[in-house]
Amino acid sequence: MPLPADPVFPDAPAIAALSALDEPLPATGRPDAETAALLRDVAAPATVRSTGPDYFGFVIGGTLPAAREADHWVTDHDQCAVGHAGSPAAHALEARAAAWVLDALDLPRGGAVAFGTSATAGGLSCLTAARHALLHRLGWDFARHGLDGAPPLRLLVPETAHVTVLKAARILGFGLDRLARMPCDASGLVDPGRLPPLDDRAIVVLQAGEVNTGGFDPFAAVIPRARAAGAWVHVDGAFGLWARASALRPLTDGIEGADSWTVDGHKWLNTPYDGAMAIAREPRWLAEAMRAAAAYSEGQAGDQMHLTLEFSRRARGVPIWAALRSLGRAGVAEMVERHHRLARRIAAGLAAEGIAVLNAPVPLNQVLARCGTDAETTALVAAVQESGEAWFGPTLWQGRPAFRISVSNWQTREAHADALVALIGRLRP
Ligand SMILES: *Cc1c(COP(=O)(O)O)cnc(C)c1O
Repeated sequence: MPLPADPVFPDAPAIAALSALDEPLPATGRPDAETAALLRDVAAPATVRSTGPDYFGFVIGGTLPAAREADHWVTDHDQCAVGHAGSPAAHALEARAAAWVLDALDLPRGGAVAFGTSATAGGLSCLTAARHALLHRLGWDFARHGLDGAPPLRLLVPETAHVTVLKAARILGFGLDRLARMPCDASGLVDPGRLPPLDDRAIVVLQAGEVNTGGFDPFAAVIPRARAAGAWVHVDGAFGLWARASALRPLTDGIEGADSWTVDGHKWLNTPYDGAMAIAREPRWLAEAMRAAAAYSEGQAGDQMHLTLEFSRRARGVPIWAALRSLGRAGVAEMVERHHRLARRIAAGLAAEGIAVLNAPVPLNQVLARCGTDAETTALVAAVQESGEAWFGPTLWQGRPAFRISVSNWQTREAHADALVALIGRLRP
């Protein structure tokens, strides 16, 4: 583990020392102690201290102690968590985690929760289920007949859709040039007044937590219309869906009407990588799209291997179970609300420095800002990154450089927020 005194981003000597790893494949095995020493003495000093309270990059989150312990448990017992037959313990823990996730997020209790590697994989699973369901309703058995000759479907995504949604679209064969991009307002949110036509051949993707602003699409205005038209609605809530488990819940009003949702554990819930959830209102569609029954491994309905992209799999729901048990309902709410409060505090501090906050009033845990000229913005980001005292990254907003500060680590408190503002004040060009 990096020490708190280490720079948030490793310095040049630590990175240069990684060349010690450039050894040929050993002809014969080397002692385990030597391997461990390389990880400890060479690799660890060049890690990013994204597990700490001064890391504000992307929406990374850290790792709650209970979740880290649970992740070690998963590794120590090396369970092949296909389902009950592979590990009764993992199956029971993931079943509990699934029930708690639906409860915490107040999503339809009969839904299926698949614990996979990422929101990327979860989104891919959900969009696959969506295609399967819509084609089924149109009388086409996708599993048997495939794409060739199938009724064409349309994928509607926000102009500001996350890159991984576009990746899923590419993988599924929707074709980037053929996507329907839903026009967005100045905050990057879908404008319900300019929706493309909706029908029973449309898969509509909405966002809970736009990556730059942290904004929420107008679910209550869009979802009932889309579903009444027979469309499937998927919500990408990689980090933002957790707002629903807090006093910020009104941001998510109407979201419960969707057909599927993705949310990460490894971002805002502060579990280790890789841990994320694909959630489907009607388990049937996810199950039909993902089922992996083999003659030697039939399994039971509800087994994770029948819901996820993986077959052999790590029990990714276990750290999520531990995080929810460690925080409880109140702890999840406290963390989300504190991060929102700290993001607002940072925004106020930046504004007092004369730095333009582009997403005021800050709706969630992301602060989007820009400092003077484009060159000054770029120089500020580089200076903060080089300082080793904190870290956040650049972005482009409406075609111009900006920066994005994400408050998502369970350890981040007022003092860290204030130190960040002071650092920016000191380093700004
Ligand atoms: C991070 C993110 C994703 C992708 O999640 P991964 O778990 O990194 O695959 C998708 N959508 C949004 C809005 C995100 O922030």
